[in-house]
Amino acid sequence: MRVIKFGGTSVQNAVNINKAAAIIKEKAADDALLVVVSAFGGITNKLIEVSNLAAQGDNTYTSILKDLETRHIDTLKELITSDSQASVTEHVRLTFKNFDDLLHGIFLLRELSARTLDLVMSFGERLSAYIIAHALKEQGMNAEFLDARDVIKTDKNFGSAKVNFEQTNHAIKQYVGTASKLYIATGFISSTADNETTTLGRGGSDYSAAIFAGALDASVLEIWTDVDGMMTADPRKVKKAYSIRHISYAEAMELSHFGAKVLEPRTVLPALSKQIPILIKNTFNPSAEGTLITEKAPQNNLQIRGISSIDNVSLITVQGSGLIGEAGISMRLFRAIANEHINVILITQCSSEHSITFAVLPQDADRAKACVAREFELEIKHKLIDSIQVENDLAVIAVVGENMKNIPGISAKLFTSLGRNGINVVAIAQGASELNISVVIYNVDKIKAVNAIHEIFFLSDVKTVNVFVVGTGTIGGTLLKQINNQRATLISKNSIDVKVTGISNIDGYLIDEDGIDLQNWEQLIKTKGHKPHLGEFISKIKELNLRNSVFVDNTASYDVAAVYEELIEKSVSIVTPNKIANASNFERYSKIHALVKSSGARFLYETNVGAGLPVISTLKDLINSGDEIIKIEAILSGSLNYIFSNISSTKKFSEAVNEARQKGYTEPDPKIDLSGKDVARKILILSREIGCQINLEDVNISNCLTPESQNTETWEQLSRTLVDFDDAVYIEKIKAAEAKGNRLKYIATYENGKSSTAVKEIGPEHPFYNILGSDNIISFTTSRYKTNPLIVIGPGAGAEVTAAGVFADIIRIVNY
Ligand code: ADP
Ligand code: ASP
Ligand code: MG
Repeated sequence: MRVIKFGGTSVQNAVNINKAAAIIKEKAADDALLVVVSAFGGITNKLIEVSNLAAQGDNTYTSILKDLETRHIDTLKELITSDSQASVTEHVRLTFKNFDDLLHGIFLLRELSARTLDLVMSFGERLSAYIIAHALKEQGMNAEFLDARDVIKTDKNFGSAKVNFEQTNHAIKQYVGTASKLYIATGFISSTADNETTTLGRGGSDYSAAIFAGALDASVLEIWTDVDGMMTADPRKVKKAYSIRHISYAEAMELSHFGAKVLEPRTVLPALSKQIPILIKNTFNPSAEGTLITEKAPQNNLQIRGISSIDNVSLITVQGSGLIGEAGISMRLFRAIANEHINVILITQCSSEHSITFAVLPQDADRAKACVAREFELEIKHKLIDSIQVENDLAVIAVVGENMKNIPGISAKLFTSLGRNGINVVAIAQGASELNISVVIYNVDKIKAVNAIHEIFFLSDVKTVNVFVVGTGTIGGTLLKQINNQRATLISKNSIDVKVTGISNIDGYLIDEDGIDLQNWEQLIKTKGHKPHLGEFISKIKELNLRNSVFVDNTASYDVAAVYEELIEKSVSIVTPNKIANASNFERYSKIHALVKSSGARFLYETNVGAGLPVISTLKDLINSGDEIIKIEAILSGSLNYIFSNISSTKKFSEAVNEARQKGYTEPDPKIDLSGKDVARKILILSREIGCQINLEDVNISNCLTPESQNTETWEQLSRTLVDFDDAVYIEKIKAAEAKGNRLKYIATYENGKSSTAVKEIGPEHPFYNILGSDNIISFTTSRYKTNPLIVIGPGAGAEVTAAGVFADIIRIVNY
């Protein structure tokens, strides 16, 4: 004998019922079968809604009632077209007439007790089982309707009645016996010893099926639903969740208790006590294997079996010196809670015994607080216990698996993934059985948390990073191209998915959680994007609260650099070639870097100095490995190097500037380069890495501009003033250098805590002599590299290399 249950969506309408019927037909051919069904999808909620309206004296309930009747009649007419249609319709109409009478009573009395509500809700399953039984008959099956109220006997705890198994098992055996009939039984409903209707609690049809299976010693209990089985996480929260092939009773119970709705938590016990395997299957995809639940499930190489979460809980904390070493406190506390019939979801106490914290559903929080306060009235009065604290808007996430017993480091992994995503853990509980670690977090972080945990335990193969790009000029545009070209390779070879989730530029902004199509992003921003608005873009990133979020600032803008702190606080990492934040005043600089340390986010800016060259990472490596930086000398500006490499007695300064600009080596405003400010910012950033607490004003800067050039606004004005400048400043210097076979170079220096920039004349023996074009060179003299400095050399400007450096920083964040 098999017991099989179809849930609400599996019997949503005639089309779905026919799918279920095909499954039933196939199974009935091999084995005796008892089928349990839920009400048609959504009906139970509707029944509650109409009865509430009636109880409030709102007579609009009558029109909803009419709709409900029509939905049932229409469905049965689709399923049953033979002569029996009239009698089934008649029965359904009569049932609705009874229901209408009941609602009218509720309307007149303006009262809806738990007892009456159970009777109200029973109509859903009574109608669906009756209609389905007749639909199966129509298809030639020997089906018969079974009203479970005749056999499942309970106490009078209306709304969530407790089963009397002795009476129930006996009644089921008597009723069903060894009959060759195909019973179609109502789920969810039951009755008391004196035949009053009760229900087993919402979602209780799974439990009804388990009760039948236990009583009849079924060979298997099948739960047919709308997903491919019990999944590694709630598929509504985690898109990448997948179905678990085999799981133990204990694990399934734990997952369902902590929110995996696919299986009502009490379902496992009757099956477990008779060792009946449970199989969860998908009515809409019957060929999928589904999930098998048995005593022992083979251990796989995964550390955990699944993750579940309870969306909304409140935490209650009792604390005070009176708790320490005092026997019987927990007993009194939880007895008081139990007397109020409040369900405790989780308990945690630290070993100092100074406090006990427990979680309850929010609707129970006030009552729980009041009853605990009553119980400890004296202790509170004598200040042995502080006032009782309640914290709301929390969620519990449970990580479940029997493998945890054998594998160390699971909690470390769990808390690392939460920490890196800036998710604050409010409380922790781990059962001594080591089957479950539960963490309480803020509800707003829930989706991010389950996804982060899911990724780290189940998708070690592919890690996704959510990239938000601001600025799509030469660097940003090139970066998007590079990501687009490399994404597939990164997934297949490195198991990293660089997903561009948001782009913001002067045309507008666009966010797509599934990733923006990078073949087509320009068009998509224009057609599907929002108006340009940096503030909105930032708010959306924060609201989305996605795990592994990286904000990439490809601008040279103060406004964009101003948002880093608020993003870091939300654990969004920052990657940028924009030097503004790192070159801002020391107070802000230290604030950002301190925030990074405390937030779990990262801030990477390799391209602040030397574009894609490994300058900052090399410097960090030297310092971290204990080396001492004695001196840094560097050519750090592609544009200035180009200019000074090209001026000669025949080529003027102004001409060289013009060429550098045309080749795209200068900043959007060339004055930033020519004034020495850009190089000064770079040497400032390097000096700060070494630990110098200095500001830009402390860098001794050699400015290539006169005050007159400095005050210009447009390029045309600037270039006019440069012409005057040529003869006055550089011609003599260049002539003198040429005469000695030397060259002029714009060199930044750090030494003894002092930083400066200067135009220097160097000879052919100097390592910088042959650095031409837009190349950079950085020479580190350190305790270890003393006689022969460590030198980094290569292209220090240009969109391709800078974008590549930004891309590398993004990958560094994923690999961290
Ligand atoms: P039925 O009406 O068939 O009883 P339910 O809606 O009660 O179906 O349960 C199935 C739903 O449970 C799925 O559609 C899914 O959204 C949700 N669910 C939550 N957690 C899980 C999980 N871990 N595995 C599978 N489904 C889950
Ligand atoms: N119809 C009931 C409910 O919606 C029972 C069930 O579907 O399991 O709660
Ligand atoms: Mg269900």
